[in-house]
This record gives sequence, C-alpha cells and structure tokens, in this order.
Amino acid sequence: MDIDDLAKGIIAGERRALARAITLVESGRADHRAAAADLLAKLPTDRQALRIGLSGTPGVGKSTFIESFGMMLTGQGKRVAVLAVDPSSARSGGSILGDKTRMDRLSREPRAFIRPSPSQTHLGGVARRSREAVRLCEAAGFDVVLIETVGVGQSETVVAEMSDAFVLLLAPAGGDELQGVKRGIMEIADLIVINKADGDLKSAAARTRADYAGALRLLRKRPQDPEGFPRATAVSALEENGLEETWAALQELTDWRRAQGFWDRTRAAQARYWFEQDVKHRLLAQLETPQAKDDLARLSDAVAEGARDPAEAAAEFVSRLRAD
Ligand code: GDP
Repeated sequence: MDIDDLAKGIIAGERRALARAITLVESGRADHRAAAADLLAKLPTDRQALRIGLSGTPGVGKSTFIESFGMMLTGQGKRVAVLAVDPSSARSGGSILGDKTRMDRLSREPRAFIRPSPSQTHLGGVARRSREAVRLCEAAGFDVVLIETVGVGQSETVVAEMSDAFVLLLAPAGGDELQGVKRGIMEIADLIVINKADGDLKSAAARTRADYAGALRLLRKRPQDPEGFPRATAVSALEENGLEETWAALQELTDWRRAQGFWDRTRAAQARYWFEQDVKHRLLAQLETPQAKDDLARLSDAVAEGARDPAEAAAEFVSRLRAD
C-alpha cells in the first residue's frame, strides 16, 4: 500500500481512502502500526472538525439521535463523520454502530461517513485507534465528527478527551428523581439532552430537563464555559424536534471557547494527555513480551523464596527491559 497515495486520497476527501486508512490505524500488526504513524505524519494539521462526544445508555436513542442530527447537518451541506468507542464490543460480539440497519438514512447519505467501533478488549486500544480515526476524518475535511459511546465505565472520559464538546443523552425520568447519573459524568457534560420529548413522554421530558438544569446550576462553574453552560435541552430524535436548538447551543459554546482561547488550550491539553497515555501504553506493552514475562516470573519466585531483595530484583527487571 502506498502511503503517499493514501494520504492524497484522504486529503481529497475520498471515503474509500479514509476507510482504508482507518483499517490501517486499527490494525495491531507492527508493520501496519509503522505505516499508520507514517501516514498520520503526512496529513495536514490545519483542518479542524467540530468533535462532538456523545454518550448514553443503550436504548436512550443514540443512533436515532445521531441519524436525525446527522441528516440535519448534511442537509445544511456539512460533512459528518460518525465513529464509535465501544470497549465492550469484543465481549458482546457485536459493536455499537455494527448493525447495518442502524442509521439507515445517514449511511446512504454521500456527505456522511459511519464507522463502527474497532473490536478490542482493552479500552486503551480502542481509544488510541478512535483518536487516530478522528484525526483522519479531520484531515479528510469533515466538518463535524460525532464520537459515540455507551455509558459504561471509563469510556465517557476517554471520549471527552478526544472531543471539543461532550453531550450526554438521557431518557425522561419516571418520577421527578434524577436518574442515578454519576456526578463525574455530569461534570464532563457540556450539554445534557433529554431525548424522547414526544407523545406521552413529553411532559416527563420537560420535567427531567428542568431537574437537570437545576442540578447543573449547582455545579461549580468551569472556566471554559460561557454563561448558561452546561445546559440541559429536550429533543425528540424520532420526531426531529429540538435538533436545531441543540446545534445552536453547541455552536454558541464552541464559538465562545474559540474566541476565549479555550478551544486551542483544550486541544493542547488533550494532545499532552494522549502522548502520556501512549507512553504508558508502550511501557505496559513491554511487560507483555514472553521474555519479560519469564523474567518477571523468575525474579518473583526468587523474591518469594527470600533469595533476592524485592527492590533489587525490580531494579534488575527494569534494567533488562531498557536493554531490549
Ligand atoms: P441507542 O441504543 O441509544 O442507540 O437507542 P436507539 O436509537 O436504538 O433507540 C432505542 C429505542 O428508542 C428505539 O425503539 C427508538 O425508536 C426509540 N427512540 C429513539 N429516539 C426516540 C424519540 O425521540 N422518541 C421516542 N418516542 N422514541 C425514541
């Protein structure tokens, strides 16, 4: 595969080239990793998409929302890419976005590009691949990149670290209680969107929206937020209501952040974060080689038998890693 041609194809916005490049960054093979690094280095860094992270529990309406929201944006002439970060896909066998019937209209839209989550057991692996896929979509000239994740474990944090704005999608609550949403997630959300504000659920959605708006006002104000953010809105993804308002809120937020310098600062901090993650990832990978596992088992036995001192054995182990 010619990396220069692939880079040219991506820069020209060719979807086939983009799809091939994402396959390349998703590959675990050492030669593919090297080619992917080479490719990423050849891509322009001056194209920026609006990266929107989107999280919500299964059934809340993520794919319905992404389809309606994506269709609205492509209708405005914007190019929209949809990626998924799903650490559970390897376990469950199927991934979010994996089902071809999901986002049927958007998947047929020429201005849209939809990519399921790479299957990986480790969130770290999925995260790196997804982050690189975001970069590829940006280089391919997409205006908006939507990064979807299911609300499990650490995946929201990982997605927030690759997004310019983070949206939490929720369903209307039954009573007037807030639905056990973890405080940590509330704190990374820029926009809480109550979906299914239609039919019988409309008034419950309005109540839930008001409850969250109240809860958000109690959070400590973050420096990167303009007045009135984080904000809670209500939408119906199914009836396509409230989508323009959601888009307007995201624009208001990100325009302000750009003007105030928070956009660049956040991206710089994210780059730093991913660099450090990558260093950790590479160091941990060194522990997984057969040689390292052997050394570890041998030294560990010697320590247990009292033949070696723990600190001294650890120093020897690490110096052997360095020598590799
Ligand atoms: P996901 O698992 O979060 O991707 O959720 P889906 O998009 O697959 O939606 C789950 C179910 O909720 C489906 O039966 C949808 O038709 C329904 N749904 C999604 N959005 C809405 C909405 O705005 N209103 C109503 N009433 N139902 C919705």
